[in-house]
Amino acid sequence: MVFSYALFSVISCTMYRYVYRNYASERELMELSETDQLTRVLNRNGLRKFLDADGQKILMERETPVCILMLDIDFFKKVNDTYGHDAGDRILVFMAETICSCVRASDHVVRWGGEEFLLFLMDTELEKGLEAAERIRSAVEQADNGICKITVSIGAAAYDGYDYHAAVKKADEGLYYAKGHGRNQIVVR
Ligand code: GH3
Ligand code: MG
Ligand code: MG
Repeated sequence: MVFSYALFSVISCTMYRYVYRNYASERELMELSETDQLTRVLNRNGLRKFLDADGQKILMERETPVCILMLDIDFFKKVNDTYGHDAGDRILVFMAETICSCVRASDHVVRWGGEEFLLFLMDTELEKGLEAAERIRSAVEQADNGICKITVSIGAAAYDGYDYHAAVKKADEGLYYAKGHGRNQIVVR
């Protein structure tokens, strides 16, 4: 009897550890595949966490406003060319840290492309979103990143909960305008 009980305990314990370990490594793998390995913010794949292809998850789960910011480092190619690719990488890490320090934990920060970040500011009216954008813009401009002065251009748009792609496109248009009109600024579309 005691032997059977001991055997049962050993088997259950082993099975539990096996299942838990598999679950943990699956979760770790999932997290890894959704995280940008350089900057530790979400990568595009990570968007799946809160958006499906049509942005319907935000639409269904949120009835409050969302502000979208598209941010791009100014003249970043020149930074790489002048200080080297590793220095450029360090600036990207600094950029992600600065952005995250200026927004709330409930917001979503995505590395959208090379030196481009897409931000979803949750429960945020456009006006408040613009304040956050300005916090980021001025923090980047004033910070000493240890390499060189950098600035960012930002496009902003309100997400009305209906057409996520249109909202991202609008923010992108704002960014494009900012790039053509002196950079280091925020443009709303
Ligand atoms: P603009 O102000 O118009 O945005 O000019 P830019 O030089 O920032 O833009 P451009 O698109 O010409 O160059 C982007 C540069 O970003 C080129 C590319 O090598 C660099 N880049 C992209 N991804 C990475 C990365 O992961 N690490 C580093 N160090 N550089 C990267
Ligand atoms: Mg750039
Ligand atoms: Mg770019």
